[in-house]
Amino acid sequence: MSAVIPIQSAAAIGCQTAPVLVERGQREVFCGLTGIIWLHRKIQDAFFLVVGSRTCAHLIQSAAGVMIFAEPRFGTAIIDERDLAGLADANEELDRVVQQLLARRPDIKLLFLVGSCPSEVIKLDLSRAAERLSRQYLPDVRVLNYSGSGIETTFTQGEDACLASLLPVLPRSQATAPGAAPAQLLIVGTLADVVEDQMRKLLNDMGIAQVAFFPPRKSRAMPQVGPDTVYLLAQPFLADTARGLDAMGARRLGAPFPLGSEGTTLWLQAAAQAFGVPQARFEEVTAAPRARAEQSLGRHRTALTGKRIFFFPDSQLEIPLARFVQRELGMDLCEVGTPYLHRQHMEPELALLPTNTRLSEGQDVEKQLDRCRQDQPDLVVCGLGLANPLEAEGMSTKWAIELVFTPIQGYEQAGDLANLFSRPLARKLKLVA
Ligand code: SF4
Repeated sequence: MSAVIPIQSAAAIGCQTAPVLVERGQREVFCGLTGIIWLHRKIQDAFFLVVGSRTCAHLIQSAAGVMIFAEPRFGTAIIDERDLAGLADANEELDRVVQQLLARRPDIKLLFLVGSCPSEVIKLDLSRAAERLSRQYLPDVRVLNYSGSGIETTFTQGEDACLASLLPVLPRSQATAPGAAPAQLLIVGTLADVVEDQMRKLLNDMGIAQVAFFPPRKSRAMPQVGPDTVYLLAQPFLADTARGLDAMGARRLGAPFPLGSEGTTLWLQAAAQAFGVPQARFEEVTAAPRARAEQSLGRHRTALTGKRIFFFPDSQLEIPLARFVQRELGMDLCEVGTPYLHRQHMEPELALLPTNTRLSEGQDVEKQLDRCRQDQPDLVVCGLGLANPLEAEGMSTKWAIELVFTPIQGYEQAGDLANLFSRPLARKLKLVA
């Protein structure tokens, strides 16, 4: 079992000050509608109504799959030619669609109107529509809006926009006395229910009793937020949400993200320190799951140590994943691309990366492909659009989106996370054999 690395001492090393290759060219990423796929599973009484085109409808239908046994919790209000030509009143049409939906689905308590490229093009004001519809349907149904448009966004930003839209309706908690310990810990970012349960148990066992998760499973169980709240980001793509929470008086705990054994330990340790959990108690609670995580990682280390990996910018998970594969699986980093580099949120991660890591922010896809071909990595993490051409060139790839859909956070999932990297290499070996 490896020792716990104090966050402060780790901050003195790494590639925090390394130069970053910034590129602003053609990008190959999904749009923010993609977030609906995991958000609709999380908030069980919410419905996501995309106001968009048939293309938008196809995207979420094919990405989320068709639900056969359950009523879906997402749909698309199609903007057709009449709307685009200004021949129909889009607001009237939208009101009619919402009325039909809510009459048929009394289980919906929270309705998101999700903007798209077409709704932005016709300048449909969804925030006014949401206000109007909320006035009409509250207290039974709250209506909010956010944009999932592909114009200048990357796919995980859909979750950020969704959570940020919820902030104004969160109940406010009381201020604490100056110097008093925080009253509650808020975990921010969608986690699979199984991961959430594991994290809650570990934190409760340490003695941190007030732990809330955002987004919650039920829209009527929104967490209180205020100056008595400290929060930990569970996902690295929540810049706007974090800014909003800061403005409400909550305090972010800086930590690496809970990926792998080390990442999970440091993430939990940030909470333990904020709540004054004695180190002995922390060790006692985390020892067994850490040992299990270490053991499960060992099985993949043999296959992955010394293998070279290239990350294209896609999910914003790239930097924490690079830290995990390099430090816990012994992989060598060719390039770590990220769509956006949020220096504050990434500081503890950057401190753990090797000083010579080639970091890139944004994308100029042709130039990046050239660098990748020159590097000839053993494994490429990239979007779906790049995976097939690279496979055709003989490279092994891992779809970045799979790393967002799969529960990968926490000790018990460390082995599953490692498996996502070792599986494509094992498959290639089988094909070659
Ligand atoms: S929001 Fe834009 S990028 Fe996304 S599916 Fe619709 S049209 Fe395409």
